[in-house]
Amino acid sequence: MAVILDGKSLRNKLLENLKKEIDEFEVKPSLAVILVGEDPASKIYVNNKRKTAESLGIVSTVITYPQDVSEDVLLAKINELNRDSSVNAILVQLPLPKHINKQNVIDAISPEKDVDCFTLENCGRLFTGLEPAVYPCTPQGILFLLDEYNIDLDGKHVVVVGRSNLVGKPMALMTLKRNATVTICHSHTKNLKDITKTADVLISAVGEVLIEDDMMKDECVVIDVGIFKDDSGKVRGDVNFDAVSKKVSYITPVPGGVGPMTIASLMLNTVKLYKKQNKRSL
Ligand code: NAP
Repeated sequence: MAVILDGKSLRNKLLENLKKEIDEFEVKPSLAVILVGEDPASKIYVNNKRKTAESLGIVSTVITYPQDVSEDVLLAKINELNRDSSVNAILVQLPLPKHINKQNVIDAISPEKDVDCFTLENCGRLFTGLEPAVYPCTPQGILFLLDEYNIDLDGKHVVVVGRSNLVGKPMALMTLKRNATVTICHSHTKNLKDITKTADVLISAVGEVLIEDDMMKDECVVIDVGIFKDDSGKVRGDVNFDAVSKKVSYITPVPGGVGPMTIASLMLNTVKLYKKQNKRSL
């Protein structure tokens, strides 16, 4: 039976320490989240982020817009938040409606307030191996979890399934930086199973049940980023947990694995940006 990589416990531990740090700050860090439209999943994610931030003493502002908001209105708001020195971190909750150019909106965020490493400047820094303002929340949370269980990536074969800008690509770059040998797979990959079978660490970020127990070595570490509801309304990940957990060495559950680590990362990143901004203004 695999060891469960317990994201909930690690989140609690990290946030407990973070709260102690925030308690010492006279002026509290502040996170602004922009939410467009009525997507139920986005609303839940944003609400969870707000609640967690508030429980730590981070000032959390959620700015909501209807689905038909114009790009100009969003850009004007982001510019206002950029200029507002009481706001340390800005997050635009994705997805955005189709009539809005996502990249224009993301790139309006000041790189130094870019809490999920979305902007071209921070992505470029990540790509070249330079330090971005902060690392993207989900991949960073996964690395925290691997570190907590002393899972070293040096020389290991990491297979990332999924190539989104949010998870797959930055995950690949960040494991490469840890000296892993990295393969990225996607919907056009042929013979996926042949590749995943060679993985020491298999990270799946797809959004459908895809990873079965015949797709990996026994000693594989399996990270399930996927989170979605199946036809019966049950929250699921990409991995067939019941079967795979009987076989591999380590595995993340869904829920309770990567999800809590993403939120923890967002909070840590907010405080990191706050500290950088305050240091500079001294
Ligand atoms: P995305 O933008 O939809 O990307 C999905 C990726 O999966 C794409 O690269 C796609 O390939 C690939 N893919 C689809 N079907 C495939 C198949 N049959 N075989 C191999 N690859 C396939 O999704 P995302 O934003 O990265 O999110 C992925 C999942 O993670 C979702 O369930 C999301 O809800 C979840 N998520 C969870 C967290 C968390 O904190 N737990 C954070 C972010 C996302 P193509 O590029 O070829 O289309």
